[in-house]
Amino acid sequence: MKTNNTKVKRMNSLQLFLFACMTAGMVACGGVPEEEVAEEEQVLDEPVAAEEAAGEEGMWNYENINWEDIENTDCATNVQSPINIEPDDAIPAQLGDIEYNYEPFAMTIVDNGHTIQAYGAETSMIVVDEKEYKFMQLHFHAPSEHAYDGEYFPMEMHLVHQEVGGDDLVVLGIFIEEAETANPFIEKILTEVPEEEGVPVETAVDITLSDYIPPSQKYYTYIGSLTTPPCTVGVTWILFEEAIPASAEQIAMYTEIYSNTARPVQELENRRVFTTMQ
Ligand SMILES: [Zn+2]
Repeated sequence: MKTNNTKVKRMNSLQLFLFACMTAGMVACGGVPEEEVAEEEQVLDEPVAAEEAAGEEGMWNYENINWEDIENTDCATNVQSPINIEPDDAIPAQLGDIEYNYEPFAMTIVDNGHTIQAYGAETSMIVVDEKEYKFMQLHFHAPSEHAYDGEYFPMEMHLVHQEVGGDDLVVLGIFIEEAETANPFIEKILTEVPEEEGVPVETAVDITLSDYIPPSQKYYTYIGSLTTPPCTVGVTWILFEEAIPASAEQIAMYTEIYSNTARPVQELENRRVFTTMQ
């Protein structure tokens, strides 16, 4: 699960393609006008708030999902997330291992009106394609936003990371499936959910993000967007094939607070999904 000082591997042409998509802000692979890319970079000046930054709080919700009508967002572009992952259509590629440099941290947790979010890691990083990304926050959706072979899961967790010294975002997407036993890591968050919406609470509870990562490192990757307004494009998605477990009680605990917080799957259009060969 953990790799220490992973050997740097040379990128093959597929990785270079994916990498080019990341660094070019989708201009190379999605047909997003350059002026929109410029706006995206401005939006990402406030990385923690990026996924929730669509204008004033309360200007969007899951009841009226026509977010493409919201001005000054990327929601109407054709390179959006989530998508349905079709495993048979994914292109096997020599993708490098993700290096997890996660440290335990005392989490701050907030009910932001759309999801339960945890953050507070000062030094937790991942390395993807030789670039370092700092952990910004994790949060949940119910049911899952991405589908796998047309199937949805009860929940999905997103671990949002931002490039050190840059604006590129990498989101690790992890499906949560119902299991017999409770998940001790998810329990830590659920038992610390603040009473009051919009008020972050610092807890004394340490979490280590590595504990949330599925044992199998088989993943699917594509270039998409944030799944909430402003639907910022150019996000590298890494979705693990293996789900992590949670008990029915834990899933119920979460969905009593938030259910129906999944954006419908978007068309893949001209994009391609790559997968690890392991
Ligand atoms: Zn999310």
